[in-house]
Amino acid sequence: MKALTILGSTGSIGVNTLDIIGQYPDRFKVIALTAHHNIELLFKQCIHYKPAYAVVSTEKLADNLQQRLRERSLNTEVLFGAKALADVASLSEVDTVMAAIVGAAGLLPTLAAIKAKKQILLANKEALVMAGPLFIEEAKRAQVTLLPIDSEHNAIFQCLYGRFEPGIPPKEVSKIILTASGGALRNKPLAQLKDTTPLEACQHPNWVMGQKINIDSATLMNKGFEVIEAHFLFGLSPDQIDVVLHPQSIIHSLVEYRDGSMLAQLSSPDMRIPISYALAWPERLENSATHLDLLKVAQLDFKPIEEARYPCLGLAMQALKIGGTATTILNAANEIMVQAFLEGKIRFTEIASLNQQVLEKIHSCPVVSVEAIVEDDSFARAVALEMVEKAQKNVLTAMEFSASAAKLRTEREHSRKF
Ligand code: NAD
Ligand code: MG
Repeated sequence: MKALTILGSTGSIGVNTLDIIGQYPDRFKVIALTAHHNIELLFKQCIHYKPAYAVVSTEKLADNLQQRLRERSLNTEVLFGAKALADVASLSEVDTVMAAIVGAAGLLPTLAAIKAKKQILLANKEALVMAGPLFIEEAKRAQVTLLPIDSEHNAIFQCLYGRFEPGIPPKEVSKIILTASGGALRNKPLAQLKDTTPLEACQHPNWVMGQKINIDSATLMNKGFEVIEAHFLFGLSPDQIDVVLHPQSIIHSLVEYRDGSMLAQLSSPDMRIPISYALAWPERLENSATHLDLLKVAQLDFKPIEEARYPCLGLAMQALKIGGTATTILNAANEIMVQAFLEGKIRFTEIASLNQQVLEKIHSCPVVSVEAIVEDDSFARAVALEMVEKAQKNVLTAMEFSASAAKLRTEREHSRKF
């Protein structure tokens, strides 16, 4: 029986993870669940999975949830704040931690889980982008098993016969190829990109995901972060990591071996497949994802990436080449810019141009400690916020914005198929 903490249980990855766990009550036990503010969904998850602990971000939300759970005679202890996240990630009764918080907030609890020698199911790519060298060093020192959840990295992991050592180049591999769908705006004329609304940018053609990763997919910053993630996870140099556009999202990535053989992993675009592989590794579990029908797929296309459409991919590659905390700075800037775009404060195309300005303005430092990373992260956020303030021109009218935001919320609720 595997005992789990799920960091970010109310998100898209968290909900899909619980979906699989719910089908195998004899294999998995939930010890702790965590959420930022969504206590409605967390309450339902607690009733269903009866964890020993639940964590939220504020004391007020914790009191509210605690009271409601007591009324239902549930013993779940509700905690709050960053320290509580790290605590439930390192409980002695937990052996596996699903790291599915979005953004920089996921770094410290994931590092705590590594230090406590838990098996790590890693969805939170921003943790590796922010702190790659340190993250991998800690994982090696603690000798933990890192199992990638991101569909591309999970695909590569499967094409490596389910084996790799964090940060060590896999034997006989000449390169890996990450596939990219191109996101919601892949067919929009370049000249019209600047008028994109948040709702439009979140309409991913193939996957159902959280808002931030949807925007990152539309800018292709997501793919840039995935190149960085692959570089640190698999120890490959940037020129051994290619990106190709594959609009169908059927091949999730490929490994090319030195003899010219290429192995690919194919499936329907459903995160329950990589999640169930990581949960049961090295076994495989049946799950409720649809199996592929190759005759219906009929065609697989591959195209080069259009650089002018996706400047964020180039920025991520630039930050990786600069090294040190440049990727920390880019990640922090990008979180601020994505939020500002979702709030209607900047244009879609300004996500890239303002990210670039932050990256150029701040010097990268060597990654020496978590404290140094957190400091550069905070500094970059402050610089980024200043730039948003300067750039802010109320891109959307108040009415356009509230209509778009309301629709976004509804879509998010629908995607939470608890
Ligand atoms: P999401 O927005 O749907 O969910 C995020 C989760 O993190 C929620 O439970 C939220 O409550 C929690 N959270 C957010 N901010 C927090 C904070 N400050 N403190 C504590 N908790 C916080 O995101 P998602 O789509 O599930 O993505 C989660 C991670 O997985 C991201 O890093 C994303 O890049 C990665 N990922 C997601 C997918 C996908 O299909 N959704 C695929 C590959 C990788
Ligand atoms: Mg991915």
